[in-house]
This record gives sequence, structure tokens and C-alpha cells, in this order.
Amino acid sequence: MIYLDNAATTKPCLECRKAVAEAMENQFGNASSLHNMGTASLQILSRAKRTVLAALSGTKSPLDGEVVFTSGATESNNMAIFGAAERARCRRIVSTAIEHPSVARALDGLAERGFEVVRLAPKDHADFIEAIVNAVDENTALVSVMAVNNETGFAVDVPLLYKQIKRKNPKTAVHIDAVQGFLKMPLDGDLISVSGHKIHSSKGIGALFIKKGEIIPPLLKGGGQQHNLRSGTEPVELIAGFEAAINAYRGSHEGFLKLKNHLLKRLSELSDIKLNSDERCVPNIVNFSVRGVRSEIMLHSLEEDGIYVSSGSACSKGKKSGVLEALGVSDKDADCAVRVSFCADNTTDEIDALCDKISKTIERVRRGTSKNRF
Ligand code: PMP
Repeated sequence: MIYLDNAATTKPCLECRKAVAEAMENQFGNASSLHNMGTASLQILSRAKRTVLAALSGTKSPLDGEVVFTSGATESNNMAIFGAAERARCRRIVSTAIEHPSVARALDGLAERGFEVVRLAPKDHADFIEAIVNAVDENTALVSVMAVNNETGFAVDVPLLYKQIKRKNPKTAVHIDAVQGFLKMPLDGDLISVSGHKIHSSKGIGALFIKKGEIIPPLLKGGGQQHNLRSGTEPVELIAGFEAAINAYRGSHEGFLKLKNHLLKRLSELSDIKLNSDERCVPNIVNFSVRGVRSEIMLHSLEEDGIYVSSGSACSKGKKSGVLEALGVSDKDADCAVRVSFCADNTTDEIDALCDKISKTIERVRRGTSKNRF
């Protein structure tokens, strides 16, 4: 198997699997229990929170604030957006046209409740950060911007964006969906969402960072766990696995760049390839269109040889990607878009196998029936 769909999800690493099994076997106490099994679970939670805080900033100084463990970034994003809106005194929200549905649909909900939601598209702005900051005014309650787009890898300099928004309006809450940027770049923000299954932990675990001084109401009310910010018995096992995966994370900019450069070189030898990821994109996600071959045809052809990639976002499930449009990709090219996303285990040999099969598929479709062509 050649797995090149790491932006959709990653394989849980050995360290994570061991930590989950160990916690299930020996540290399964309820973190709210007063006996020593409860204390042991509480210690796992506290240590994991420190690890997340240190990992978020991507620098030697950890961010200052609280970490709330959630079921994943969909919950973190909803908690951040609805929470920030609930305590907002003004009704303008600035975001982008390339957000993940867990942000975009939450913003739709706020628009229905009367919030003014401004969504900027990268294709319309040479300097995207400047455009976002320009859109912030004295009535802006919230800015929600993703660190890295999951479909093309389009990235923003988050610490710079955060600094400039705060300079423009210190009262504006800044939420960053950092699912695809976590452990790969420096981050900052008042509210930051991350997810375990994109960094070799399991599905079902994520976190929301809440900066010191930022107050948001809980999304889930109940037993008052996690300082009453997120009720529900904490999944100690998944949290232990999440921490282990953070500590064991091996992806590096240099490693990804080597893979990306190899892929770009091999793609440049094929005809009818249009790149949809440009120099503003992270090196671990590469989106390109194979003109004349629809995405599903390419995906299933690669799958025959055990090669797994994606057509844009796994969350869109074949629906037309408005995201690619907002990034300046034509509808026709979006129909044949392929997303390749790396992890540290991928090799240049795997990329060779991918490109050989893409080349064969192009040939087959060219020779083949007209139903595969358009
Ligand atoms: N935001 C982004 C940018 C994502 O890529 C994803 C996962 N596709 C999510 C949010 C949702 O994360 P989760 O699967 O943990 O709910």
C-alpha cells in the first residue's frame, strides 16, 4: 500500500497505539474520581495539556492559556465560533471562502442569526493577510481563518496575521483552524483548533486552545469537567495517545520539501498537468489537475495498485469544491483535481510509483472510451 492521503487522516503511530493500550489496560480511572486511579488519569490530562501548549506555538515559549480536549476539530471549531459569537457585543465576522465545512457551516448558522459574515477569497487578493486585516473594523467580533487549507495546502503566516489583527482591533477574537498546520508551523491566536487524527493519533480526539483572558461559554453542558469548559468524562486513553503522537511526530519541512520537489519534477515530465498548489502552499500537500481525466477515474485507477490519494477534500465527498474556485481553479480543472498529501514515512520511490501509474492512466484514458474523456 502507498498511502498519500495524509491530509484526510494519518495512520496512528506505534507510540500512540502503545500509549492508548497502556492507558486502557492500567490507567482507565475516571479523572473526576477522588481515589488514586482518578488522580493518575488527571495527571495524564495535565501532562497532555502541557505538551499541547508547548507544541502549539512551534517555538520555545509555550502559549499561555487553557487547553480543552474535544472529540476533534469539528467540535473545537464549533465551540470556538459559537462561543465567541455568544459573548460578542458586535456582529461582524471576518473569515475566508476556503474554510473547512466545520467552520463554514457554523458561520452560515451565525449569518442566519443576523451576523454579518465577510468571506474573503485568496484569488481576489495579492496580499491575503493585508486583505483580512483591512476587513477588520471596530465592529468586528471575530476573525476565523484557517492556518493551512486542507485541499491545496494554501497557508497564512498565522503569528503575523494575529499580531496585525490585534493591532487593528484588540477586542476582536481571533480563531485559527490549525488542523493542517499543527506541528508544521508556528501558531498563535485567541482560539486555536487542532485534531489528533491528522498527526498520527486516533480519530475522536482534538483540542481547543483558549488564550489566557479569552472567555467563551461551553458548547457541552453537564458534569462540569475540564473547568466546566467541556462536560463529559475525559477520554484519558485517547488523550494519552494524542500526547504520545505529538511527542513522536517526525514530519519536517525539509523532508516534505524533498518529497514535493520530487513529485513536481516527475509531474513536469507528464503532459496536461496543471498545478493548483503554488509557492504559498505548505510542502506536504500538493494539488494538481490531470487535464482530461476526471478525479474519480484517476483515484480508482491508482487504487487498483494500492495507491491512495484524494480528490480535493475528503470531507466534500465528491461535491464540487467551492474552495478550489476561491483559490482561482477553474471548474474544469477542479473536476480533475488530485490531492497528494505526505507524512514522514513517504518516500521518493512511492512518488515514482504514483507518477508511473498516473502516466499509465492518462495513456489508458486517451486510448479508451469517450465516456472517460471530456
Ligand atoms: N479543519 C480542517 C482544515 C480539516 O482538514 C478537518 C478534517 N478534514 C477539520 C477541520 C475537521 O477535523 P475533525 O475530523 O477532527 O473533526
